[in-house]
Amino acid sequence: MDYVATCKLPTPWAVFSLHAFVSPESGKEHVAMTLGDLSTTEPVLARVHSECLTGDALFSQRCDCGAQLEAALQAIAAEGRGVLLYLRQEGRGIGLVNKIRAYSLQDEGADTVEANVRLGFPADMRRYDVCRPMLEHFGVTQLRLMTNNPRKVDALRENGIEVVARVPLQVNRNRYNEGYLQTKAAKMGHWFNLADLPENP
Ligand SMILES: [Zn+2]
Repeated sequence: MDYVATCKLPTPWAVFSLHAFVSPESGKEHVAMTLGDLSTTEPVLARVHSECLTGDALFSQRCDCGAQLEAALQAIAAEGRGVLLYLRQEGRGIGLVNKIRAYSLQDEGADTVEANVRLGFPADMRRYDVCRPMLEHFGVTQLRLMTNNPRKVDALRENGIEVVARVPLQVNRNRYNEGYLQTKAAKMGHWFNLADLPENP
């Protein structure tokens, strides 16, 4: 990963630093948002967030990505220290157009895993090998990772990143994403306890 540049990024919750990286292999542009001093030995509160244009920017209620992104940034701001890696792997790695094709199949009754499989994709094509060089750039070696996804914890550990704790991120259950969250829990092993999750109006 090649580090390129840093700017200030004011948000409603804190003024973060936004750092740009480019992967020389894929040409993909990734960013990291950081807050506070990450060079100390204390494990860093972290989120590894994969791009979801519909959820992060277009207010989609089909998934929980936008709410997770917001909650993660709020948690980092509240702690005054942390890092969010924003990885450009839309739609669990299948890209925006294919994600919309998968949503179209879901409108006809398929669940999120079946739709990907019917389009000829694995349920999850995300990769996390860019994370370690990005974290190393900031001197971060130990994470307290905000996620509900056990495979993400495993994938980061396989990439040599020490995840010392998992912080649950259970936000934005609503009537449109109930089935999606249940599929993630049942078929993808996500740690959800829907009974514990408050329903948004
Ligand atoms: Zn999403």
